[in-house]
Amino acid sequence: VTHELKTPLASMRILVDTLLEGNYRNPQQVTEYLQLVSKENERLSRLIDNFLTFSRMERNKQAFQMRNVSATSIARTAAEAARTKLSRGNCRFETQIPDELPMIRADHDAMVTVLVNLLDNAYKYSGDEKQIRLNATSEDGAVRFAVSDNGVGIPRRALKKIFRRFYQVDRSLSRRAEGCGLGLSIAKFIVDAHHGKITVESKPGQGSTFTVTLPVDADAP
Ligand code: ADP
Repeated sequence: VTHELKTPLASMRILVDTLLEGNYRNPQQVTEYLQLVSKENERLSRLIDNFLTFSRMERNKQAFQMRNVSATSIARTAAEAARTKLSRGNCRFETQIPDELPMIRADHDAMVTVLVNLLDNAYKYSGDEKQIRLNATSEDGAVRFAVSDNGVGIPRRALKKIFRRFYQVDRSLSRRAEGCGLGLSIAKFIVDAHHGKITVESKPGQGSTFTVTLPVDADAP
């Protein structure tokens, strides 16, 4: 974790120092360095967001704002938040989100975080021709959100462990893919607080589907 925090800081520092010393060949190189600084900055902000949620979680201080919210709005907000990244080059991102999903008792922003974490993973753990879907449905008194990808998949032996804090199937791949093993544990913590379920089905080499099921009944938390 220390490494995850220090690396982006160190690269930003080197890039900024280089620019301050006037060590560049042309204006284009200045732009390139600034773009790298901006990318590292974005990466660091995402990491810090996850760390903050995680530490609040540890101290049991994560207060959820449970309200009656539309499941359609949760899914659409998450899709919009992820769309910029997911519509880059060789990624096909499709959604199926009906207009009239039921209202559920939920913390809107926390549930958006769950879906954004799943979409982010779908992107990170897929190869060159990415196909990512977000489907939302309602049936049997429950709302179901499913995020699927055609990525590397998850070996059987790891399926239960991936929801644990800091667990990563492949540390070297994960490191390249920018992560520290907290995204899914945060997602599970939030879904549990909603009395819901998060499950995964995966075929190694073919892809994975993460499903979040939340109860619709009026007495839900
Ligand atoms: P991180 O992505 O930061 O490593 P997560 O808690 O989000 O942490 O995920 C834990 C691990 O589960 C990842 O390191 C990866 O090995 C595996 N994983 C999560 N989502 C997917 C996915 N969509 N496809 C393949 N592997 C995944």
